[in-house]
Amino acid sequence: MPDIRLLLAPDLSERLQRSLIHEDDIRHVIAGCEETGVKLLDNKTGAFIGHRRRGALTYWVRYRPEGGAYRVEAVYTHRAALEEEGGPNDERRLSMTSEAANHDTVICLKCNKPLVKQKVRFSYLRFPFWDMLPACPGCGQVYLSEEYVSAKLAEVEQMLEDK
Ligand SMILES: [Zn+2]
Repeated sequence: MPDIRLLLAPDLSERLQRSLIHEDDIRHVIAGCEETGVKLLDNKTGAFIGHRRRGALTYWVRYRPEGGAYRVEAVYTHRAALEEEGGPNDERRLSMTSEAANHDTVICLKCNKPLVKQKVRFSYLRFPFWDMLPACPGCGQVYLSEEYVSAKLAEVEQMLEDK
């Protein structure tokens, strides 16, 4: 694991411990973003946002550089897999179209383009589904907000687990 120093507020640190999220999971995301330049910038707050799959979970981290370290502002996870490079035909997918807020202040730093809503594909427990969500028109990098993941996506995962 790369030598990345994290700064976490005590209450966030406690929450992550309760959710069994380790600091190395966070380092894995930040290292990926910083090495490849594939990350998002929220122009409104100046924070970077990145995500990476590790094991059965996708980890999202909102962070910003601070004096040679990284200040971690939020970490959230989901089990459904994002298919940023296609997958089964859309005809077989369940539509989850929600009223996700527009995130036109979020920019893909790889392509330097603001995100626009487009069809984003997922699969979970072999169920394919999609939603209209902000993504980069250049490289397809997706943005899932903490609100979306903790409310809407968690609900969909629960529903598919109960099937
Ligand atoms: Zn892009």
